[in-house]
Amino acid sequence: MNEAALYVVATPIGNLGDMSPRAIEVLRGVDRIAAEDTRHSAALMRHFGIDTPMQALHEHNERQVSSRIIEQIQQGQSIALISDAGTPLVSDPGYVLVREAQAAGIKVVPIPGPSALIAALSCSGMPTDRFSFEGFLPHKSGPRRKRLEAVREDPRTLVFYESPHRILDCLEDMIGVFGAEREAVMARELTKTFETIRRLPLAELQAFVQGDDNQQKGEYVLLLAGAEAQEGDELGEEVRRMASILAEELPVKQAAALAARVSGEKKNRIYKYLLNSQ
Ligand code: SAM
Repeated sequence: MNEAALYVVATPIGNLGDMSPRAIEVLRGVDRIAAEDTRHSAALMRHFGIDTPMQALHEHNERQVSSRIIEQIQQGQSIALISDAGTPLVSDPGYVLVREAQAAGIKVVPIPGPSALIAALSCSGMPTDRFSFEGFLPHKSGPRRKRLEAVREDPRTLVFYESPHRILDCLEDMIGVFGAEREAVMARELTKTFETIRRLPLAELQAFVQGDDNQQKGEYVLLLAGAEAQEGDELGEEVRRMASILAEELPVKQAAALAARVSGEKKNRIYKYLLNSQ
C-alpha cells in the first residue's frame, strides 16, 4: 500500500535485470498504473508478478487522462506512471500530468532508474559535466539541419535520440553541419545483447554504420562533442564585456589596447577575441 501520490517510475531499457526492487514494490503497491502502452507493459508486469490495474496514458490522450488521474489521487488513490521503457517524461509522455499534479498540490515521487540518455553519456567517453539533451531531431532533412545548425557552436556535449530508419540520413546531415572530423559516439542497443558503443569522427562512424547492416538496426543514442572553445573564451566575462563596449566606440586595435591596460590581460588575446566576436 503506497501513500496517495503520483509515482514516476523508471523501467528497464532492454535488460529486465535493471528493474529496481523499489520500482517493483511501488508498482505492486499502487492502486493503478498509468502506462504509455498497456499491452506493451503487460509483459513487464507479468514478468515481475505485478497485477495492478493499468490505464493508458499516451501523447494523444494525456490531457484528458491526466485530469482523471488527478481526481483519483485526490480521492486517496496512489498512481504510478510508467512509459514503454526508461524514465517517463524523457522523450516520453507525462509532462502534463506532473505539472497538473503539482498544481493540484499532489505529491510527485520519483522512482529513478534506467534512461538511455544517462546510460549513453556514462559510457561515451565525452565530457559529462555539461551536456545538452536534444531529444529526437525532425524527420525531414531541411528542418533537421536547421536544428543542428542551431547547436553547431554549443560547447557542451550534445545528445540525440535516433531511430534505425533515419540513422544514416541523420549522420549525413551531421557531417554536413558539424564537419567530418567532429567526434561522435553511437550508443546502440544499450543493455541488450547487441549493445554497441563506438566513439569515432563523424565520417568514420558513418562508414562503420554503412558497412554493416546489423549496425542499422535497433535503438540509438547519438552524441557529439561540443564545439572547441573559441579563441578568447578563456578571458574573464568582465574583460570580454569591457572590450566589447570599447569596440563599439573605438577601432578594434585601440579597444583591445585600452581593455588590456585596464584589465592587465594580454592585448593580443583581447584583440583576437574582438575579431572573432565581430
Ligand atoms: N524514456 C526513455 C529513456 O529514458 O531513455 C526514452 C524513450 S524514447 C521514446 C525512445 C528512444 O530512446 C529510442 O528511439 C532510442 O533513441 C532511445 N533508447 C531507448 N532505449 C535504448 C537502448 N536500449 N539503447 C539505445 N537507445 C535507446
